[in-house]
Amino acid sequence: MVECRFKGGPAAFGPEAAAEWIPVTLDAACTFCRIIAGQAEASLVYRDDSVTAFMDIYPVTPGHVLLVPNTHSPDLGHLPDEYGGQLFVIGRRIAQSMRRSGLRCEGINFFLADGQAAGQTVFHTHLHIIPRFDGDGFGFRRPSGVGPPSREELQAVAERLRSALRLSGWAG
Ligand SMILES: [Zn+2]
Repeated sequence: MVECRFKGGPAAFGPEAAAEWIPVTLDAACTFCRIIAGQAEASLVYRDDSVTAFMDIYPVTPGHVLLVPNTHSPDLGHLPDEYGGQLFVIGRRIAQSMRRSGLRCEGINFFLADGQAAGQTVFHTHLHIIPRFDGDGFGFRRPSGVGPPSREELQAVAERLRSALRLSGWAG
């Protein structure tokens, strides 16, 4: 017997929701948490103790998968390292499988939006795994008129980032 813990309380989903899942912290108001708990409809692709993958209901291309940690983290700052690591490990396996699936897949993009300004709309961290092919219409746009910065500018920005890493205790 395994169990779920919900911020909204177990009554939000009923005891049967806990019947086949693992100890995780989920938010009853979050669509992705509800999918993880088996309380919202989704087309599952993969799940283990750490992550769950399911089809995006607004796919960029056929085969577009969302991979989410089995714990409610509204942004990367709240995502425990072990879940983040597993997102990449399993994301890579799903990507490799995508290439063997028979779906049209000449390349793959990983895309993760962290924050509203970055395009995040569901505030439960999720990695998009998107099959790509020539002429699919998807892609990144560079702002127009932005040229490459000088080496001095690059060095100055790199130093700001190194300082921020040191302040967090993540670099010596
Ligand atoms: Zn959630």
